[in-house]
Amino acid sequence: MHTQQPTPLDHSLATTTALDEAYFMPVFGKRMPLCAVAGQGLELIDQRGNRYLDMIGGIAVNVLGHAHPRLTRAICQQAGQLIHCSNYYYIPQQALLAKRLADLSGLDGARVFFGNSGAEANEAAIKLVRGFFYYQGKARSQIITTTHSFHGRTLATATATGQDQISRPFAPLPPGFSSVPFNDIKALSEAISDQTGAVMLELVQGERGVIPADPAYVDAVASLCRETGALLVVDEIQTGMGRTGRFFAYEQYGIKPDIVTLAKGLGGGLPIGAVLANGRASQGFRLGDHGSTFGGNPLACQAALAVLDEIEDAQLVQAAKTQGQLLMQGLRQVAAHQPLISDVRGMGLMVGVSYTAPIAVRLKEALMQAGILIGSVGETTSRLLPPLIIQPQELDTFLTVYKRELEALTT
Ligand SMILES: *Cc1c(COP(=O)(O)O)cnc(C)c1O
Repeated sequence: MHTQQPTPLDHSLATTTALDEAYFMPVFGKRMPLCAVAGQGLELIDQRGNRYLDMIGGIAVNVLGHAHPRLTRAICQQAGQLIHCSNYYYIPQQALLAKRLADLSGLDGARVFFGNSGAEANEAAIKLVRGFFYYQGKARSQIITTTHSFHGRTLATATATGQDQISRPFAPLPPGFSSVPFNDIKALSEAISDQTGAVMLELVQGERGVIPADPAYVDAVASLCRETGALLVVDEIQTGMGRTGRFFAYEQYGIKPDIVTLAKGLGGGLPIGAVLANGRASQGFRLGDHGSTFGGNPLACQAALAVLDEIEDAQLVQAAKTQGQLLMQGLRQVAAHQPLISDVRGMGLMVGVSYTAPIAVRLKEALMQAGILIGSVGETTSRLLPPLIIQPQELDTFLTVYKRELEALTT
């Protein structure tokens, strides 16, 4: 055992800000002025020891909150045993995690592949679609996505993302992607054809500000895919892991996609992503068609197994549903006396609030000062993605402070 102490880090905000501004690529712009150094349950703790109620949960990643004992123990034990080995060998945690996810998916003959992020999971899904038709000798490489969607930052997933500004500077972009308006079945029925390889969509558009798909739309999308033979790919990177009140959001809609992607909450904070496919769609990959050095390594898979165990034992899928209802009820009560709120929407613990004025950023900053962390989308939407372990009294605290800070903005 090493007795050496780790090198002490200078956690001061001034030092970190200066280093970040001098050396980190400026893609995240001006960040919120705190250094995250620790966490416990729903609380994130900064360099001064200030505690914040974390209602954004690492953007839907920290499903078990921070420093959850079961997850921490699993990671520490596994790190002391084996962090990584290549995929030249069998990895028990990987095989078991694949089975657990396949069972949870309810997809016929489900098979799983692990990468390290959401973008990689979607990238694998895109390759799988193309391979599926390639091996049948069919020219069906076209993938239709929806506008204002978000599927990741690699070249293919940024192109799949229906927001031009995310991919425009990086042309030439991979061909074979187009997007149609979300929740618009007419637009999809005009775009889909026997050249379409897949329709790929989120059932709740998260990065857009939590916009759920209409059930009738999702039904119609599934039918159009069946009629034309296109595969249906559902991006559950943000909606999965119980967040919406079912393990997968597609269960809410009573559909069965051909391919599903997961990431964010899967490792409870350790980087891991997964693509799941039914037996038929999984034939898009043959020997040597895909791979990953880190993907599905023992540490990440052991973390994911601990997350699944805790979700099951603590009934966190049900909790997401119940607490989500309480949160939305509470927000609607605030909205009833607050003309600034134009809309409260969401599913489970994935909630968006829209305003009649551009106050979302100022409100986020005011709430941080008051000890609460939330997200914002553009200038007019707040986004809430708290850990699934959130307790009713924490919801109460949030609602009280939120109401007060929102009122303070208007007076
Ligand atoms: C976050 C997200 C991604 C990208 O995941 P990364 O891990 O950042 O690559 C893709 N799709 C959806 C719906 C997401 O929310």
